[in-house]
Amino acid sequence: MPEGTLCNKKTVDTKEYLDALLADKSGKKYYEEMSHLEVDKEKLKKTLAASMKSRMRAWLDLCSHCALCGDTCFLYLANHRDPTQVPSYKIQSTLGKIVKRNGDVDNEHMRYCMDVAWSKCTCCNRCGSFCPYGIDMGVMFGYLRGLCFSQGFVPWELKIGTGMHRIYHAQMDVTSEDWVETCEWMADEQQEEWPGLEIPVDKVGADLMYTLNAREPKHYPEDIAEAAILFHIAGENWTVPSEGWEQTSLAMFAGDWGACKVMVESVYGAMERLKPKRVLGTECGHAHRATVIEGPYWVGRKDGRPPVEYIHYTEWVAEALRTGKIKIDPDKRIKELVTLQDSCNYIRNYGLADVTREIISYLVEPGYFWRTSPGRSLVTWWSRAISSRCTRTGSTTSAAAAAAVLTASACIASSATWA
Ligand code: SF4
Ligand code: SF4
Repeated sequence: MPEGTLCNKKTVDTKEYLDALLADKSGKKYYEEMSHLEVDKEKLKKTLAASMKSRMRAWLDLCSHCALCGDTCFLYLANHRDPTQVPSYKIQSTLGKIVKRNGDVDNEHMRYCMDVAWSKCTCCNRCGSFCPYGIDMGVMFGYLRGLCFSQGFVPWELKIGTGMHRIYHAQMDVTSEDWVETCEWMADEQQEEWPGLEIPVDKVGADLMYTLNAREPKHYPEDIAEAAILFHIAGENWTVPSEGWEQTSLAMFAGDWGACKVMVESVYGAMERLKPKRVLGTECGHAHRATVIEGPYWVGRKDGRPPVEYIHYTEWVAEALRTGKIKIDPDKRIKELVTLQDSCNYIRNYGLADVTREIISYLVEPGYFWRTSPGRSLVTWWSRAISSRCTRTGSTTSAAAAAAVLTASACIASSATWA
């Protein structure tokens, strides 16, 4: 059974292996090895027997091939209604075939599954909201990704991402030392404009523990400063953990359930160590899904909840505005037509549509919040919040943009109100 040195069924648990993957520019050798990687059919059969539950088997059997789900998928629409992009076709031709053949599939089929699972579905779960039987491709493609990963058929970038989680407990190579130094640097940078601003690390018993995305210390440290400014203005008693600060999960995208568990244990470990009253997550929608919605199950929590109440960034922003901890200068409210892109993760899958609209009501002059979900003019709450289309970056663009506007507005309000 040929296994490559880079492309194989092993998880990335050593720095040497991670560095070798990183040195393979564009994954040239990795994909060459993948073209010879054998499928472990016996293992695949056993995995199906152990993990393919009745719900997914029923979904595959129930599908009447009515193709109603076609128009619900942005990838189908964006690809000129290519029939191979109809959600039911995508899942039946991949997972459906593996199940029908009870794991007896070859390298070519697994590479086809990899292509469809990662480049023809974002697991946004939109089609499941429209299928008359509630058949949810997002859930099934998530499962298929796990099967592909276990057999070594995973995109090179995501194999690296899972290695980062396993080795650094973060999706990028940011060590705890790097992280803490970045916090100190960002706090120092703000002293002239915001004297006394702190980014407290490892404070026990704070009201809020803030978790975020490795992209922030790695590439956008000013995002950490912006959050700190808001907490400073709001007078929050807050902290960040030196370990367990990274909330995102490339492991979830990759289907590496072992690394998902490692990541969630790291964040939940910080909660248990620092005992905050509440935990606040960054704007990232997939991070919320990974740590708050699915994470409890990955670590075997029977109540399906994190150990401490864990709110999304938009929930905290809405609360701070509602309670007057942050004030917006009414003269600075936006007086141009504004729309809002709903996120699949924390809106459709977690129900925070009202929260984001509440934030808009403080930021935008009444009458200027026009409509949501571009392309629809007669909208109901359901069509806005449930039917919003995946942008592949929806949560980030919507909430980060709102947060950026809010930071700017809040600063203005702060000078006008408190200066
Ligand atoms: S809408 Fe549902 S039943 Fe119809 S083809 Fe799609 S998955 Fe199958
Ligand atoms: S989950 Fe989203 S991206 Fe995937 S098939 Fe359904 S609508 Fe398309």
